[in-house]
Amino acid sequence: GCGICVKKCPFNAISIVNLPDELEKNVVHRYGENMFKLYNLPIPRLGNIMGIIGRNGSGKTTSIKILSGLLKPNLGQVGADLEWDNIIKRFRGTELQTYFAKLANNKIRPVVKIQYVELVKRRLKGRVGELLKKADERGIDREVVDKLAIKHVLDRKISELSGGELQKFLVAAVLVKEADAYFFDESCSYLDVKERLRVAQAIREFIDVSKKYVMVVEHDLMVLDYISDQVSIIYGEPGVYGIVSKPYGVRTGINHYLEGYLPAENMRIRREPIHFRIQVDIRVKPESEYPILKWTNIVKTYRTSGFKLFIEAGEAYPGEVLGIIGPNGIGKTTFIKLLGGVLEPDEGEVLVSVETISFKPQELSPKIFPEETVAANLRRASPNTLNPASWIYAELIRKLGLNKMLDRYVADLSGGELQKLAVAVALAKQADLYLLDEPSAYLDVEERLTVAKVIRRIIEEKRKTAMIVEHDLMLQNYVSDEVIVFYGKPGIEGYASKPMSNREGFNKLLKELGITVRRDPQSGRPRVNKPGSYLDRQQKSIGQYYMP
Ligand code: ADP
Ligand code: ADP
Ligand code: MG
Repeated sequence: GCGICVKKCPFNAISIVNLPDELEKNVVHRYGENMFKLYNLPIPRLGNIMGIIGRNGSGKTTSIKILSGLLKPNLGQVGADLEWDNIIKRFRGTELQTYFAKLANNKIRPVVKIQYVELVKRRLKGRVGELLKKADERGIDREVVDKLAIKHVLDRKISELSGGELQKFLVAAVLVKEADAYFFDESCSYLDVKERLRVAQAIREFIDVSKKYVMVVEHDLMVLDYISDQVSIIYGEPGVYGIVSKPYGVRTGINHYLEGYLPAENMRIRREPIHFRIQVDIRVKPESEYPILKWTNIVKTYRTSGFKLFIEAGEAYPGEVLGIIGPNGIGKTTFIKLLGGVLEPDEGEVLVSVETISFKPQELSPKIFPEETVAANLRRASPNTLNPASWIYAELIRKLGLNKMLDRYVADLSGGELQKLAVAVALAKQADLYLLDEPSAYLDVEERLTVAKVIRRIIEEKRKTAMIVEHDLMLQNYVSDEVIVFYGKPGIEGYASKPMSNREGFNKLLKELGITVRRDPQSGRPRVNKPGSYLDRQQKSIGQYYMP
């Protein structure tokens, strides 16, 4: 058998624990002796958008660096500076031969949307509009600005932008370049659902896929599915080695990834399949329990900005996770402040309010941590966290893998590692209400699932309540018992629904956005319908926007 499969393997598969020796001739790059090794590369193809999925530390950014000419591959010969001829020869007979031949002769001009948008704040000075004008080689900056809805930030300085605005600015700055190969390294962090789909549509609309190479790395599987035609899966052992799969059609590729078995290579990449449980049942509230939170219909207006928020009455119970969905600037933070008594309603009241709120902000940077090391930050959040005999150590620290990085400096952590620390610090604190804003940013699919499980477990054990602002709908559906939908006009007028079932809430959200979503029959995961397609029209006609 394959050596990792729990069941008896019907395929006689190979797996990541019994890799064939001949794989060694497929090494494309190795950073150093005993350092990360990359096998194969995703294949850029004209006429197709190639999506890339894989765990953090599996070589996605490394692949992009190589294909965009930023990193010359050493074919595993550490320290060697190979001639391009030798590199091209190595890929002889494959589609990559032509690609590298063109790249070596400067016939491919690449442009990359980098992964960590925060880095730009330090490197780039100036105002959004001017910088976009300067970047614009195609004379399309206005159209791109319209499509991505960033007109209102054109006069702002880069340093003043929120994470989501920065993300859209960078996507725009890449789209206006006249290039032959476009690479987007994780373009959804900090964006709401509508913006994610807008970015996907903009890539299709402004890049002529029949003449240009396009690759996207994405962990939000609903978006990856929507944006790509084909996918390559990178598997292996994060930080040690990564192997790029053959290209698959987008639907089957994502399903194979979730299943953990790649038929074209007869390879088992994971012991267990990934299942995003899709909730359909409505939770029955325990009658004996008192709510942790209870509020009537509320109206709140900010005198200075004029922003007005209307909230429907609701309540939350111990052990319950409430999802929060909706765009930025719609009143989510205002709602939480009202619940915590930081703000007073103009009309209505909070009947049962919380005393303490533990908050994980959306945007991550080492600056949000007061201590230098991982351990010191966790200890500061709660002294018991690092006691190996405590349940919180077992359920939080070990489950998130933080026990392996206790001595590391916060400043050296990757985006995904920072996120896991931020979630752990927030959940370790004593509070009545835990508010986590976009816990999925920079996490891979497996980490997203782990974090979701950890949140549920900790909240149930503590008998407290969590509110999770999350735009990855598969994850939101998985983590929350019920959802509150925010809608209206961002910055002007917001509405917050009562807590409702996932199905009802998602239906409401998607109806607001004019998007319909069907269920993939094989994996049960949500898939966005093409606008105007038969299913899109049919679902709209019966008012079933979310997986009828
Ligand atoms: P991904 O984008 O899939 O998260 P990366 O391609 O960024 O992964 O990194 C893959 C592995 O290579 C990681 O373990 C990372 O630490 C390592 N790595 C990346 N860049 C370098 C480098 N310049 N030197 C040594 N190791 C590196
Ligand atoms: P979200 O959390 O959904 O992004 P917020 O509740 O933070 O939204 O903000 C909603 C709107 O209210 C925004 O337009 C914001 O600029 C405005 N706003 C937030 N705080 C204040 C305040 N203290 N005074 C005036 N306007 C504010
Ligand atoms: Mg990366």
